[in-house]
Amino acid sequence: MREECAIFGILGNPEAAKLTYLGLYSLQHRGQESSGIVTSDGKEMYEHKDMGLVSKVFSSEIIQGLKGDIAVGHNRYSTAGESRLSNAQPFMVNCKVGQIAIAHNGNLVNATELRREMEKGGSIFRSTMDSEIVLHLIAKSNKKTLNEMVADALNRVEGAYSVLFLFKDRIIAARDPLGFRPLCVGKLGDAYIFASESCALDLLGAKYLREIEPGEMCVATEKGLESIKFGNPVNHTAKCIFEFIYFSRPDSRIFGENVDKVRRKLGRRLSEEAPVDADIVISVPDSSNTIALGYAHESGIPFEIGLIRNHYIGRTFIQPEQNSRDWDVRIKYNPVRGVLKGKKVIVVDDSIVRGSTMKKLVSMLREVGAAEIHLRIGSPMIKHSCYFGIDTPTRDELIATSHSVEQIRSFLGVESLSYISLEGLKSCVKDPNGYCVACFNGDYPIDCAQCHISDKNIDKSVVAGQPGLKGL
Ligand code: AMP
Repeated sequence: MREECAIFGILGNPEAAKLTYLGLYSLQHRGQESSGIVTSDGKEMYEHKDMGLVSKVFSSEIIQGLKGDIAVGHNRYSTAGESRLSNAQPFMVNCKVGQIAIAHNGNLVNATELRREMEKGGSIFRSTMDSEIVLHLIAKSNKKTLNEMVADALNRVEGAYSVLFLFKDRIIAARDPLGFRPLCVGKLGDAYIFASESCALDLLGAKYLREIEPGEMCVATEKGLESIKFGNPVNHTAKCIFEFIYFSRPDSRIFGENVDKVRRKLGRRLSEEAPVDADIVISVPDSSNTIALGYAHESGIPFEIGLIRNHYIGRTFIQPEQNSRDWDVRIKYNPVRGVLKGKKVIVVDDSIVRGSTMKKLVSMLREVGAAEIHLRIGSPMIKHSCYFGIDTPTRDELIATSHSVEQIRSFLGVESLSYISLEGLKSCVKDPNGYCVACFNGDYPIDCAQCHISDKNIDKSVVAGQPGLKGL
């Protein structure tokens, strides 16, 4: 199951639940389907989770009941069909080492095999989540110490995970050896804080210390922070480049870089690679705002606010039902007639996935009289599904899998369309070879069964002449 999620943890503050609640607020963009917090007072654990946004899930009475000075929290978004409370995190169990809670961001690629193997051995699962498998592995480990048991479990799973484990007296934060998903550590007074993105530390006034390294477990107890390496040492990483393009907030620092800076570079590079004569540059807010600013600065064409976004709804993708998408685009965006009428407009967006959002946006821009629409995309063509934690649909739903740039341009009905090149994208980050770019080139950093299944699917549909996309 694919997971786009936010995780947050704090150890050593009497208001742990309140601070976790605030941290989750600032990480709401990473998951809007369910939210949860588990705390520990050193003896007992307390839990609350529910479907919905952080603001809906928690009240001050609920937060008050979450006692203790250690807490972990989670915001979750899932793919269709798995939207249910039993899958909400943090996930808590009781086992031979006592209570454990897990908050996980990522996707394990050997989860199905491990689960089958465990079910054969008599294990019972309460959810369809990968994360539950990790807890079973900890419970089954015959290592002696908690830290060793966690390392032992992590050594058996493959894929993407930034994860927080809450035990009664400690938080263990870990990042998979390839470092797919971000995870940082900070300090607020004497308390240690872990968060998917640094924007959560900013909100609390905490000091950013560093990232958890790929293949590192950081154990926070009242004695301090201990770093333990696990797994076989690897000399490369596969950080998710899509975190920079779309997923993370521009005010965050992830993978050692400022998201805002990388996004501006994307825009500048896009302008160099695909210049066009136009009157204004507009963005599809919010994820492409800074990419569009970069494009405008480099090209010298003025940046305008041509689309207004309604912030009081979730992101398009966050609606699990495909048929609710039609209205979403109109509910979410409205064009500013006075800015667009009669203008040659460069529209900058971060990505095209199925192409349906952009198709509707283009017709809305035409309705208010845009004279020309030149589309510039801050990512290369997305041709492959992600199995490491970003919710991309199956290959046959990805418009770029079976259609050329020219075919997509004509489908969208725009004057011109350009995507940033993969080389251009990589030139915008400091460590160009340290990233997973599989969604663009199919070069998966882990050879997983799913990667092959999806290839077979698309080959079949292309051969049968059914590109799987309506309207083309
Ligand atoms: P689509 O209509 O499928 O082409 O959706 C494209 C839009 O979805 C882009 O404008 C992105 O801002 C946004 N997007 C891209 N990837 C994701 C994702 N994994 N989750 C949510 N939204 C996304």
